[in-house]
Amino acid sequence: MIPNFEETMLPTLRFLSDREERRTSAIYGEVYRVFSVTAEERRRLQPSGQDLIVQNRIRWALLYMKKAKVIEAPRHGVVRIASRGLSLLESHPSKVDVDTLMKYPEFREFRTGTDAKHHPKKSDDFLMGETNAKSVRGTSSVTKISASKETVHNGSWNRAEKTHVVDVDGARTNLGFSAAHFISGHDPCGRLHGHNFCVKVNVEGRPDEYGMVVDFFTIEGAIRSILTDMDHKILIAKRHAIVADGIVRFMTTDGEIRVPRDAVAILDVKETTSELLADHILSKVLANSDLDLGGISSIAVGITESDGRVGWSKMCLRSKRA
Ligand SMILES: [Zn+2]
Repeated sequence: MIPNFEETMLPTLRFLSDREERRTSAIYGEVYRVFSVTAEERRRLQPSGQDLIVQNRIRWALLYMKKAKVIEAPRHGVVRIASRGLSLLESHPSKVDVDTLMKYPEFREFRTGTDAKHHPKKSDDFLMGETNAKSVRGTSSVTKISASKETVHNGSWNRAEKTHVVDVDGARTNLGFSAAHFISGHDPCGRLHGHNFCVKVNVEGRPDEYGMVVDFFTIEGAIRSILTDMDHKILIAKRHAIVADGIVRFMTTDGEIRVPRDAVAILDVKETTSELLADHILSKVLANSDLDLGGISSIAVGITESDGRVGWSKMCLRSKRA
C-alpha cells in the first residue's frame, strides 16, 4: 500500500535511530519495505505527471521532521536523526504525525507561517494536496489567497498572502432557533409569523499556535448561548413593545396582540429582519470577553429565515496575531 505522508514518519525515525547518515533514496527503500509498496505503486505518478506519489510523500515527511528538528540534514540529500528525534523515540510513540510535531515551537512557527522564509513554496502547496494530509479541523476550514497585494509576473503569482477562513453552516451543525416575528408595516411580513432560523458564521484571520483561526466549538458555543434567549419566543423590536403588568402589547398588520412577558424576547434592534438579528447576535459575540478574537480580521454572522436566503452582518477587525 502507499502510506500517507504522516505514516512514513515513524518508520523513518526508527530507521535512523542508529544515528547513521542516510541518503533520501535509502529512506525510500525502507518505506517501501515497511509498507510493502509494490513495484506498480512505486511507479505511480502525481496527477501533474512530474513526481512519484510515494517519494513525494516521503520527502514531505522529511521536510516536516526537519522543520520540527527531529531530524537534520548535514548535506543535501542526506539526513540523520537529531537528539530531539531520539528523545521522541524513547517515549515509544504509537505514531508520529503533524500533531506530534506541533509540540515543537519551530514546527508550529513553520506551520502557522509566522516565519515568512519558511513558508512553503507554491509548488509545495500543490504537492501537499496529493499527500492525503489529515485536516485537523474537518472540511469547512479553507485557505483563501488574497489577491490584494499580489504581483503577477508571466502569469504566475509572485507573492502570495494567505488568510484563513472558518465557516459554520448552522443548518448542518444544529445552530439555529425557532421564533415568531413581524416586520412592522411590511406586507406581508407585518403579520405575526414564524421561521426556523439558522445561523451562519464566517470568521477570517490568522491561525493561532494550534493552527486555528477560531475553534469551531468555541464560536458555536458562544453563539448557541445567545440563541437560547430567542428560541421559541416572539421576537419584538424594543420600540414596538409596550410592557405593563407582565403583559407585552404590540401592533401587527392584523391588529394588537397581547402576550405574557415570558413569551417574548425584546431586542434592541430597529426591526427583527434577518440582517438586523444577525447584527444583534454579532454585537453580543463581539462583547463576549471569553472569546479570543486576537487573530481575527473579520467576523460575519448570517441569519437564514428560509433556505437559501441569508441576511448578514459583518465586522472587520485588526488582527493582532503576527
Ligand atoms: Zn419573517
